[in-house]
Amino acid sequence: MARFDYFEPDHLDEVFDLLGKYGEDARVVAGGQSLLILIRQGLLRPSALISLDRISSLREISHKGNEIILGAMVTQSELSAEDRIRKHLPVLAQAASKVGSVHVQNLGTVGGNLSHAEPNGDSAPALLSAGAAIRASSLRGEREIPLESFFRGPFENVLEADEALTQIHIPVPPNDARSIYLKHVLRAVDRATVSVGLMMQVDREGRCQTVRIGLGGAGPTPVRAKKAEALLEKEKITDSIIEAAGMEVSRNCDPLSDAHGPAEYKRKMAGLLTKRAIRQVVEAYSKKREV
Ligand SMILES: Cc1cc2nc3c(=O)[nH]c(=O)nc-3n(C[C@H](O)[C@H](O)[C@H](O)COP(=O)(O)OP(=O)(O)OC[C@H]3O[C@@H](n4cnc5c(N)ncnc54)[C@H](O)[C@@H]3O)c2cc1C
Repeated sequence: MARFDYFEPDHLDEVFDLLGKYGEDARVVAGGQSLLILIRQGLLRPSALISLDRISSLREISHKGNEIILGAMVTQSELSAEDRIRKHLPVLAQAASKVGSVHVQNLGTVGGNLSHAEPNGDSAPALLSAGAAIRASSLRGEREIPLESFFRGPFENVLEADEALTQIHIPVPPNDARSIYLKHVLRAVDRATVSVGLMMQVDREGRCQTVRIGLGGAGPTPVRAKKAEALLEKEKITDSIIEAAGMEVSRNCDPLSDAHGPAEYKRKMAGLLTKRAIRQVVEAYSKKREV
């Protein structure tokens, strides 16, 4: 049976104290949806578990200046139901609503999902397309890390042993930006084979002004499809440019072969899903402009 010291601090400073004291031997627990399974299977044997459950500041969603700030303990259910997220960041609300089952969404947190660093987790591609950065905190202070620099490898992030992810900062998208999250799965409750988060701004002439594409399951970590973004930016969105962007995604991604599918299949699906996402966003613009 796994044995560990268990703590439920009321304040963040106590969390940082404990992380400083136990270092690599400690793990913070958020929703416990991934961590407790790893402990039960004997794949992780931490000597201390530090629950974030009682830190109420980590459960807040706030809107300050030009940013939406998510506390690390905001759950997937809260994200998909929250009005400001649905209005400004549909990509994130859609991704949250596609995580596992309702039970997993009720307990699993956005900070836990990112920290777990699964190559095909749902939060990362959506937040990459939204241009998010994470706030890492410890007794030494705080630092901001762009999400695209947060992942080090499958199930590995760049946090130091004494740091916790405390907040996620997301720039409020321009009013005329549109976003979407598409997830390809074998069965409804599965992890993504591949997934795409897309945020795009297209002007009245049909020219792409800004675009960010986040990919899940398309490499050892979630990534931005920067070459495809560069192809689209400042260009008129035609069928041929959509095809080219999809091909660029397929060519440049580096998926792992695993239980969710062989690498070659994922490569094709990443390109296909990207094209589908761009088409759906462009269609949303034309519908809006017809009314
Ligand atoms: C049946 C099932 C189906 C699932 N399906 C999906 C799916 O379709 N898509 C998907 O994306 N995920 C899926 N998951 C995973 C789920 O999304 C988890 O929520 C997520 O992996 C971890 O979030 P958590 O809050 O439960 O974190 P925990 O399990 O508590 O922690 C996970 C890891 O992150 C660390 N951690 C947590 N919070 C912090 C923090 N604030 N700072 C630093 N480190 C931290 C922990 O120490 C641990 O190492 C599924 C899980 C289950 C059980």
